[in-house]
Order: sequence, then C-alpha cells, then structure tokens
Amino acid sequence: MAVREIIRMGHPTLRQEARALTEAEVRDAAFSRLITDMRDTLHSSGGIGLAAPQINEPIQVAVIEISDPASRYGEIPLIPFSIYVNPVIEVITSESRGFWEGCLSVPGLRGFVERPQHIRVTYRNEHFAPQTMELTDFAATVFQHEFDHLKGILYLDRMTDMTRLAFEEEFMQFQLDA
Ligand code: ZN
Repeated sequence: MAVREIIRMGHPTLRQEARALTEAEVRDAAFSRLITDMRDTLHSSGGIGLAAPQINEPIQVAVIEISDPASRYGEIPLIPFSIYVNPVIEVITSESRGFWEGCLSVPGLRGFVERPQHIRVTYRNEHFAPQTMELTDFAATVFQHEFDHLKGILYLDRMTDMTRLAFEEEFMQFQLDA
C-alpha cells in the first residue's frame, strides 16, 4: 500500500482519454494493488473521489467514498468506499443543478458547476460484475466529476460563469452563502 502522487492540471495524462479495462486486468493482483493505492491516496488527501488518471494511470477506474456526513460539502448521502470500472453515464433528466466543486488535481480552487441532476451509471465492480445505479442531486455531481476525469475533462471545462471561480480561502469568506 502506498500513497501515490496526485498529478495536477497541466500534466498531459489529465487531458487524455483513459482506456477501458479488460476482465483479465481487473482479476489481476496488480489491480488490487492499484485500488489499495487509490484508497490510501484518497484517504490521505481528504477527498471524496479519485480517478486513476489523477495518479497518472490512464485507465477507466475511479473510487468514491463519502464517509463524513458533516463534510465541507454540506449535507450529502453517505457512500461506502466503492470502485467503478469502465463507467458509462446516461442522463435521465437534463434538469440541472449547480454545486461548488473542487478537485485534487486543481488544488486551492472552487468553481460553481451546473450538471444534470438525475443520471444512471452502468459500470463493472471490482469483480468485473456489471452494475447499474441511479443518482440524484450532489451524488450525481460527484459521479459526473469523477467520470469526466476518465475522458480527460476537468470541472473547469464545465463552468459557464467564470466569475464563480474562487480560491478556497475567498470562497469560504465570500461565496459560502451565495
Ligand atoms: Zn477531480
């Protein structure tokens, strides 16, 4: 187990489309080691999601864990540590809602992003078994943010109003109630 370096915006891997994993790769011991590294890295960073490209592995896997109900993101549903391989998002309703997002690869900044708020996600779990789930509200935003990383997309690309981009300190001072 190891905490891996999180690469930052400007690193070319973050702008590359990640490749899908095969069943053989997911069943390989190297995959378990990668997941352990991703969990350690996520925990040490205090984030709620991490995509493999953020540790310079351009493959389609992301991990998400929301364990602290009183987190800095406000009131959100708890999601136990889980692994998403080769995920595909389908928008169920295009009705959008905006949330302030941050990203471990864009440290120190927060930006307001509007995204569809009801999605269906189809993916493989750590046993390569097919799974489907529906997500709404903030959870829908979290999944879209993480899975965008697998396409080389950052949340900044999704912003439509750049006046709502702020440093974390100024965000806490001025934007929190806005
Ligand atoms: Zn991110």
